[in-house]
Amino acid sequence: MKIKILTLFPGMCEAVLGESIIGRARAQGLVDVSAVNIRDYTRDKHRRADDAPYGGGYGMVMQAQPIADCFRALCGEWGVRPHFIYLSPQGKPLTQKRCLELSGMSRLALLCGHYEGVDERVLEALVDEEISIGDYVLTGGELPALVLADSIIRLLPGVLPADAVFAAESHYNGLLEHPQYTRPAVWEGRAVPEVLLNGHHALQEQWRREQSLQRTREKRPEMLEES
Ligand code: SAM
Repeated sequence: MKIKILTLFPGMCEAVLGESIIGRARAQGLVDVSAVNIRDYTRDKHRRADDAPYGGGYGMVMQAQPIADCFRALCGEWGVRPHFIYLSPQGKPLTQKRCLELSGMSRLALLCGHYEGVDERVLEALVDEEISIGDYVLTGGELPALVLADSIIRLLPGVLPADAVFAAESHYNGLLEHPQYTRPAVWEGRAVPEVLLNGHHALQEQWRREQSLQRTREKRPEMLEES
């Protein structure tokens, strides 16, 4: 899979993409993910990629031309049009189900807005989908794009030790995951549940299923109502 993040601040993305599990997946060639600077595509002699909004109002708006040229150059480079996603607080809330669907696509382009956002016409002309990471507003789309990229990349074959890792995790099957413990067996007077220490796999599996249901009921009861 190839993912390109279109941004005015590529350094913000590269810093994160080089670390930990995503950094290793990249180094092993399991995913090709990188950022491109939209400003490199402006035709403005002062390298501007934003301007004041028509009709007045606060802040600046990212112009359509540099974004469109950047996206079209990417289509040319890849020889295929990627699915084009704009990260936006006005988009559909991101879910694990959508992450799984997107992980099956071969090419993704993620557009990060900044300031007051992007010229509406670029959304009308080019963008396939708007995704929000929650009902709050951030200064830019870089963190949301990284959230989306991370949530997709960890689902790609070979990135985690086995598919079973994410299949047992919260939200994959509509439940929250069971509690997790590691050494020591007793910490500050708090003991690990006995069932996890006795090595009886069937009982441990049953405990995990019960805990998963119980904590979903306690922490996110609406998830059980939805299913
Ligand atoms: N003026 C816009 C509005 O009210 O809808 C908000 C612009 S926001 C300050 C700047 C950029 O951050 C957006 O263009 C978007 O790319 C990104 N952004 C902010 N919050 C986001 C969220 N919850 N989910 C996804 N992207 C977000």
